[in-house]
Amino acid sequence: MTDTATLEIQPGQLFIGGEWQDAASGETFDTINPATAEPLTHVAAAAADDVDRAVKAARTAFEADSWQKLDARKRGKLLYAIADKLEERADELARLETMDNGKPVREARMIDIKESIDCFRYYAGWADKISGDVIPVPGPYLNYTRREPVGVCGAIIPWNYPLQMAAWKVAPAIACGNTVVLKPAEQTPLTALELARAAAEAGLPAGVLNVLTGFGEPAGASLVNHPDVDKIAFTGSTAVGKIIQKQAADTLKKVSLELGGKSPNIVLDDADIDAAVKGASMAIFYNTGQACTAGSRLLVHEKIRDEFVEKLLKRASGFVPGDPLDPKTRLGPLVSAEQLDRVMGYIAQGKSEGAELLLGGDRVEVNGKAGYFLNPTIFGDVESKMVIACEEIFGPVLAVQTFSDLEEAIQIGNNTEYGLAAAVWTRDVRKAHHAAHQLRAGTVWINTYHNLDTASPFGGYKQSGYGRELGRYALDLYTQVKSVWVNLG
Ligand code: NAP
Ligand code: MG
Repeated sequence: MTDTATLEIQPGQLFIGGEWQDAASGETFDTINPATAEPLTHVAAAAADDVDRAVKAARTAFEADSWQKLDARKRGKLLYAIADKLEERADELARLETMDNGKPVREARMIDIKESIDCFRYYAGWADKISGDVIPVPGPYLNYTRREPVGVCGAIIPWNYPLQMAAWKVAPAIACGNTVVLKPAEQTPLTALELARAAAEAGLPAGVLNVLTGFGEPAGASLVNHPDVDKIAFTGSTAVGKIIQKQAADTLKKVSLELGGKSPNIVLDDADIDAAVKGASMAIFYNTGQACTAGSRLLVHEKIRDEFVEKLLKRASGFVPGDPLDPKTRLGPLVSAEQLDRVMGYIAQGKSEGAELLLGGDRVEVNGKAGYFLNPTIFGDVESKMVIACEEIFGPVLAVQTFSDLEEAIQIGNNTEYGLAAAVWTRDVRKAHHAAHQLRAGTVWINTYHNLDTASPFGGYKQSGYGRELGRYALDLYTQVKSVWVNLG
């Protein structure tokens, strides 16, 4: 079976200025395996004074000549070396991510860990290619721009893709010459600590990456309020994103936010139905629906609704909750008891609002343990005003709606405060691009779902946030432009 027993998980400490340290208060908290509801280990709980120490270490590292004057190519080499260290331990990291988060180990290995390694390599390649321009200005002047690092960057990340979210922020920040204080989510602190270990082994100078495990309050909030942090990069809920934007105003920090979604997945009547059924189930059940781009609203053309739903129910029943360490498992538990309660609350609300429960809606026991497992859940006859059609559920819960023509589908699709992703399934290239242009979302997929690549930008419209991560776009988040004038007269 699985080899949990071979993976020894040490209690975690904070990583500050290149050293492993206890929290000043000495406080720790347990991190739980969501497949068993049992503690895995404990980690340090950072508070304001730990944040202050980490920010000081990051500032000192940022200002050091050894970092400021480091050849950009050597910054790249350090990022390549971190990628190599992660790759050497990729299988172990995948198991660790699975035990802390609950995601199927096959996905942890093939997606989370692989994409994190890719991300470090991709930005390693950018480190020595970040250049300014020469601007043709009037008069006897040379005007040129430099792209300089922002300074000390605070990165606050969620629990749904723990190592990957860390990589998306840490890799471009370092490529651009910044230093970082990273706060992972309280539910999933372990792979961030392993990233710190990999960075130290790769020879990253002390203080360039600091990792503080702890709670949103006080650790995350202290980072947002700290006067010597130049930028906050946040991924998480829209509610916390709003708090962060307000808090950051006091010190006028630069902020980038990647927030929630309620993404519409639109199936037109000329679509390849089997491909769309497959795509629609993956869109919602991948990562147990705990993906910010989850295709949680399925909009199906009324003409094909019955055939589509019948096939969808059959396919969805194949997502059987199971031990996430088993390589055959495709649906793991939810991340925490709190998240399970939240999702069960939405299911109850869907029923009471009159949506028809077509599949699931109930908890399930796996291996006789009290893990946070939930069966794949599908609601039919959902109306746009129902709560389950409006709010981000972040679980394996799909709301099915119908429409009668493309314009109505686009209108329903855009009828949300979010704008992270959308998809359309059709064989008509004209309709496909028309929908792609009209849907107000940062990513639109045509006849596919959930594709992501380190080279391609990612981010939200509307209340799904602002700023684009990944690709060359992330360089804009981690640099500031300086204009230099030289009198040649
Ligand atoms: P969250 O509270 O937004 O957590 C994201 C990160 O922000 C965590 O590291 C969190 O620390 C930290 N944080 C919380 N309050 C903070 C504050 N006042 N100042 C600074 N940092 C703070 O998300 P959640 O509670 O884990 O999940 C709640 C809901 O958010 C989910 O049900 C889902 O709808 C949504 N969500 C969206 C995404 C996404 O990628 N868009 C990801 C995760 C969750 P703690 O870990 O201690 O809370
Ligand atoms: Mg955990």
